[in-house]
Amino acid sequence: MKKIDVKNLPRKKYGTTTHIDWEQAVGCKISFQYDQIKGQLKIENHFKGNSIEISYKNKTKKLRTNHLFEFKWRDLIYDSRKKLQKLDLKNIPKKNGKYDWIHSIGKTIPFEFNGVLGELLITNYIRINQMGYLIIEYEKEKYKIRNINLLNGKIAKIVSYGKYHYQIGQQIKDQYKNITIITRKRLKDKQGSIVRKKYKYHCNQCDYEGWIDETLISISKISCSHCAKKIALRGKTDLNTEAPWLALFFQKKDKHLIYTERKNSSKKIYPICPECKQIRQTPMQISTIYKYHSIVCPCCSDRVSYPEKFIQEFFRQLGVKLLYQPKKTELNWCKNYYYDFYDPKQKVIIEVNGMHHYKEIKHYNKTLEEVKVIDQKKKDLVIKNNMQYLEIDCRYSNLEYIKKSLLNHKELREIYPFHENQIDFNKCELATIKSIYYKIYKYKKNHPNITYKDLEEKYRINRYSISKALRRMSQYLKE
Ligand SMILES: [Zn+2]
Ligand SMILES: [Zn+2]
Repeated sequence: MKKIDVKNLPRKKYGTTTHIDWEQAVGCKISFQYDQIKGQLKIENHFKGNSIEISYKNKTKKLRTNHLFEFKWRDLIYDSRKKLQKLDLKNIPKKNGKYDWIHSIGKTIPFEFNGVLGELLITNYIRINQMGYLIIEYEKEKYKIRNINLLNGKIAKIVSYGKYHYQIGQQIKDQYKNITIITRKRLKDKQGSIVRKKYKYHCNQCDYEGWIDETLISISKISCSHCAKKIALRGKTDLNTEAPWLALFFQKKDKHLIYTERKNSSKKIYPICPECKQIRQTPMQISTIYKYHSIVCPCCSDRVSYPEKFIQEFFRQLGVKLLYQPKKTELNWCKNYYYDFYDPKQKVIIEVNGMHHYKEIKHYNKTLEEVKVIDQKKKDLVIKNNMQYLEIDCRYSNLEYIKKSLLNHKELREIYPFHENQIDFNKCELATIKSIYYKIYKYKKNHPNITYKDLEEKYRINRYSISKALRRMSQYLKE
């Protein structure tokens, strides 16, 4: 019986699941049972890269956290000098003073190894290239071992590490999971050592069948990837249903993934830019592309934010032409403040406020307090100049949130009356993956004689950005 109890360790949220917070767990104790020995391990230290130091009765050991669950600290509980490796060969017949392996098929060898007591059953003896091999059965598993190695007591792999903790047909059930093991396999490295043990399970809650690492069965709350919402249900929770626009970032060869992956998928792809069709040189996680609605294309990314593009498209659909980042030529009173949008017809200033207007953001160059002071000054200035001031809460860059902000915005709906059905919000979202740099580049190609000044007027960005757009685009596209 081998058990380790980590229920009392502090946990932290990580994506959709929780994990043990090893940093906070320093000083905590872990109860264990290892065959006949019961005791407690203490976590003494935590190191970056998922390593910890544990102690047991004055002895310490540094190890990777996942090795804790593989009992790779068992040497702590045995005195290494008195390692017990006893094989009892009394059942094996001898011939001319040597062990007669051919006639030992069906015989058992009782052993004691690092505190584990058991019996090895010899089920076959074979010779390959003049070397003798025994096929040993132990706990329903078969192993091939050279007869010499067996005599030398090299049975560690048979007895401990390679051993499966769960049996085929075994049901593992607690308040979060209910799975039955269907089959299992060991993954080996190049040297043939077992590195991972994997189980195919049937989930008794949702009927999904999938593979899971042995260590994850005990440490993850929910073992079934479908129940943990990591697996997409075709037509319900796949990307094609929940975020169809994301497909635009997938190369042809990856397109099938939009039916099997979810928006929180950690799978990496080499995305293609929907605008300039460049393939990104470094891979990106699907969840990251989903989160930013962008692959930050080195060729055509204009760094205009998701909410800004979304709002711009929203007003375009209302027939309102907004000026992006009005300058002193339009607002002679604006000093050195930047406003997001200006509607010259109705005299409205529109601010699109991201998270840093509501919450302290780490690594942002201003504190929340500073942001609020500036926001107030900007607002006062607008009112003083007899204009209207609208702030739109865009703290989360997603369709649902911004849509709600717009629909619930009383002042906005008074100045710009609209009906919900009038707006195609999916189109607003699609607009967010468009690039102004790309538009400028294409326009310039089709109108080679257009001046920078005209482009400045047309796209409302400064000369510097225009030359940057053209330079970078042509450098990347080399057409
Ligand atoms: Zn399930
Ligand atoms: Zn691009």
